[in-house]
Amino acid sequence: MSEFEVVIGLETHIQLNTQSKIFCGCKADSWGDPPNTNICPVCTGLPGVLPVLNRSVVEKAVLLAAAMHAVSIQPISYFARKNYFYPDLPKGYQISQYDEPLARGGKLDLPMPDGSSRLVTITKLHIEEDAGKTVYQNGKRLIDFNRCGVPLVEMVTGPDLRSADEAAQYLIRLRQLLRWLGISEGDMEKGQLRCDANVSIRPIGAEKLSTKTEIKNLNSIENVRTAIQAEVERQIREVDSGKTIGAWTLTWDEDSGTLAKMRTKETEADYRYFREPDLLPIRLDEKWCEEILAHLPELPLERRARFVDQYALPLYDAEILTDERSLSDYFEQAVSFYDGEAKVVSNWLMNDVLRMIRERGVRAESLRLRPKHLAEIIHMVEEKVITTSTGKAMLEKVEESGRNPSEIVEEEGLAQVSDDETLRSLASEILSANPEQVTTYKDGKTTIIGWFVGQVMQKTQGKANPQMVKAIFEELLSKDD
Ligand code: ZN
Ligand code: MN
Repeated sequence: MSEFEVVIGLETHIQLNTQSKIFCGCKADSWGDPPNTNICPVCTGLPGVLPVLNRSVVEKAVLLAAAMHAVSIQPISYFARKNYFYPDLPKGYQISQYDEPLARGGKLDLPMPDGSSRLVTITKLHIEEDAGKTVYQNGKRLIDFNRCGVPLVEMVTGPDLRSADEAAQYLIRLRQLLRWLGISEGDMEKGQLRCDANVSIRPIGAEKLSTKTEIKNLNSIENVRTAIQAEVERQIREVDSGKTIGAWTLTWDEDSGTLAKMRTKETEADYRYFREPDLLPIRLDEKWCEEILAHLPELPLERRARFVDQYALPLYDAEILTDERSLSDYFEQAVSFYDGEAKVVSNWLMNDVLRMIRERGVRAESLRLRPKHLAEIIHMVEEKVITTSTGKAMLEKVEESGRNPSEIVEEEGLAQVSDDETLRSLASEILSANPEQVTTYKDGKTTIIGWFVGQVMQKTQGKANPQMVKAIFEELLSKDD
């Protein structure tokens, strides 16, 4: 493997989460709906109909282009017809963009888990309509037009990725970005994010690109990783045995974990592109563009870097907290209500609040435990008003009731017991009831002190001040009988 460099480019299709389709009023998201229930004369290509562009498709695509640092977002772009014949394409052409796309250029500075990074360039970004779906059943070919006219962004990277892992990372970051922008869920299993991979190998140090193969229809990140890896290994075997690589189109069979050769691909000329005569150009004037870009949030990787700088968080924390926008907003709000170190808030969030979020399958923003509540609970723990274990239990209590932490502490009598006399008498009781453990301690196994402290915590339902209890036991046990 060492004498070859792997060269990968990815072509992705992203389904935008608009209400309606790109050129008609039919519902765009028909996942799980019966076949051919979200269709009309426009999206099934009946004669005499005219497409009308859905404004929010342009807006969402512009947001994505800006987030991918497009070199230019075009003030005027055009639709084009891509002609090909396939049963699930009722018009006989797909309305796409060709020579004048919505945006040009772009990049993603892809961080890798090992700390390195890879600059991935974007060569192409345009909008287009989806085709229908062909299903083979009992030797019959069935067509579902629900997907016809669903809005897509097609985005193509340069040949910049150098391993199957990098390709997988690119898709993980792209999916994160789509969710962050709120323009697509990017769920590959539902076809909201689709990926074809162009794969080639070349001798290390070589500049010239070798013949590439294209792997189609990769429908999960794991499949992207395994299929590319299998193809790289196949190409190396071929070249090592003196064969040349053919410009094949391959399809990945998930069940058998193998690649199979498909039809040879159409070339650009076969598509006979020409300008779409039924649609006006997209005129994206300055005002409209500004309005759209006003909704462009700080991006996840930028926010991650800022969290490290501004809050002195370890990169590990910043990565988890910026995985999702709602969680990162939650963190910043909680920090703003809390006057101690941000790392303390981060610990509570990553250990306890994140578990609540995952158990409930919700986003941070829909928790009843608001950032203000979290900050208040942490504050009460720090001020020793309640113990850490009471604090953790409080998270659930607030989430269940939606009430203020301080109210709950007062009404349920959860305040920490720091009264020296009370704790001392509890400690003495426990010592006299457990002579065996006392002997163990005195024989030198002093770690058993944790067990003693635990007994007091149990008796007080977690309300005793554990540091004080420990000190009391140390004192009592150090006395000679
Ligand atoms: Zn329709
Ligand atoms: Mn396409």
